[in-house]
Amino acid sequence: MSRRDDLAAGLAEVEERLVRACEAAGRDRSDVTLVVVTKTYPASDVVLLAELGVRDVGENRHPEAGRKREEVLAAGHELRWHFVGALQSKKASAVGAYADVVHSLDREKLVAGLSNGAHRAGRDLEVLVQVSLDDPDDEHAAAERAGAAPGDVPALAAAVAAADGLVLRGVMGVAPLDADPAPAFAALAEVSARVRADHPAATVVSAGMSGDLEQAVASGATHVRVGRAVLGERAPTR
Ligand SMILES: *Cc1c(COP(=O)(O)O)cnc(C)c1O
Repeated sequence: MSRRDDLAAGLAEVEERLVRACEAAGRDRSDVTLVVVTKTYPASDVVLLAELGVRDVGENRHPEAGRKREEVLAAGHELRWHFVGALQSKKASAVGAYADVVHSLDREKLVAGLSNGAHRAGRDLEVLVQVSLDDPDDEHAAAERAGAAPGDVPALAAAVAAADGLVLRGVMGVAPLDADPAPAFAALAEVSARVRADHPAATVVSAGMSGDLEQAVASGATHVRVGRAVLGERAPTR
């Protein structure tokens, strides 16, 4: 099989899972956006995905994300680029200048950088507040936690909503790897409801990956971020 056939098969499989998950949850398939996470894979894969109809792709590292976007643009494909990885504050401005959506704002320090980048690029940047879904008593998880504590999310959301060039779109979460994802996604849905009480337009819930997209759709995810199930297993070193 060619790489193109591989990717088409992966996409078809994920599409079928999404259709079934939406059916089971009594939701419209059109209510859930598939973001294909292409991190660690070459720009040539992103071009093939674009030719296969993918419109939303996710990356987790700067500057690789920006470079791949340029390559894919040069090949004639204007996609929506979602930045889903940990953000360093000194890189936030650069990412804000090329990303269409940033899923990983988890501290106030990032607001100014992203706002500055969006302003320089002369456009609006959509932002999700990343919520930590780890058990707060798990010290190991706390050490490498990404995401804001649920109680800190309303203030962060307000800071994003008030920032020049940023559009608050909702929340994002990653379920703990070694536990049932359902309680984590339920917690994220609760945080989302709290954010929407203040910001009715912030309707995005980005949750679910290759291993747990069904549970995420059942809990109301509007965006799933799927890598391996479309592109294959990544090399173990990355
Ligand atoms: C890599 C990544 C994904 C995709 O994970 P898969 O298991 O490959 O589907 C989703 N979200 C984030 C934040 C990621 O870093």
